[in-house]
Amino acid sequence: MSTSFHARLVNSPFADPALYLRFPYRGQAILFDCGEIHALTTRDLLKIQAVFISHCHIDHTIGLDHLLRNFLVQDRELKLFGPPGFIDQMQHRLAGYTWNLTRDYPLRIRVTEWGQRHHLECSFRAQNSFRQDSLREIPAPAPIYEDAFIRVTALALDHRDIPSMGYRLEEPQHLSIDKEALRHLGYSPGPWLSRLKEAILRNQEESLIEVALENGTSESRCAGALKSNLVRTRPGESLCYITDASPTEENRERILQLAREVDLLVIEACFPHAELERARKRHHLTAHLSGLWAREAGARRLLLFHHSRKFLALPDQLAIEAHTAFCPPK
Ligand SMILES: [Zn+2]
Ligand SMILES: [Zn+2]
Repeated sequence: MSTSFHARLVNSPFADPALYLRFPYRGQAILFDCGEIHALTTRDLLKIQAVFISHCHIDHTIGLDHLLRNFLVQDRELKLFGPPGFIDQMQHRLAGYTWNLTRDYPLRIRVTEWGQRHHLECSFRAQNSFRQDSLREIPAPAPIYEDAFIRVTALALDHRDIPSMGYRLEEPQHLSIDKEALRHLGYSPGPWLSRLKEAILRNQEESLIEVALENGTSESRCAGALKSNLVRTRPGESLCYITDASPTEENRERILQLAREVDLLVIEACFPHAELERARKRHHLTAHLSGLWAREAGARRLLLFHHSRKFLALPDQLAIEAHTAFCPPK
């Protein structure tokens, strides 16, 4: 069965948080948190369309400068999402550099910060020395991001006295191509398949798609006809990203709501449950709670990260504890 995205941690679970989510059929990627990201190649980096930041502790955001450096000469819009106050923090970050030689650069950065009543959004353009454009309000609780392929919703978790955003990404439906039918019809795979999927997801089935043929030529076909010959549909996949949450009942309820029956839950497992008191003081989850809440939420798979470096000598201890709570031995 084809999957629509591949999720991988950029670093070891003991190092800075950054989850790289690649959509192979679209050649695009999304990042959840942006700690140290030098392990990503330039090719990986330039696939990134959007970055969702949980909160602005330095281990979650230090890679934003590296990302910006790689994007600087691109004719692109980079979308950044974050917690309340994020626009202000990005403005100060960008103002920390001198931009007198970037007036010809086409890069735009769109920054959206989550809010209970409305989200706020603004742009920073290289041509304008990355000064902040006017703010726009987006009514909440709309998804913080939505396009034809995915929808991302966010929820604020308590992390001592600041929010740490948890995110849930969902596909409206999953479309896959019947490779046998593709071959049988003499069609050649290529970027036109993404255009076909986008037309279907946008309900534009009467639109014409230029189909690449195996003989090297191309021909126009109606998206609706291509859909019935080539495309299989099934319910969309989902992923939830949770980190830096205090081990409280309020956070448990929010996490269960956000991660309900998710296909992949990516969640921190900072300390062993034997150190619950320490986890409370540091405002992080224990491995046992992460696994238990994943089970209560009905998550299908679990990926653990943000382990305390104190446990480097026993690298599997926290993952084993979480998985034991997630799937207790019969
Ligand atoms: Zn952290
Ligand atoms: Zn933190």
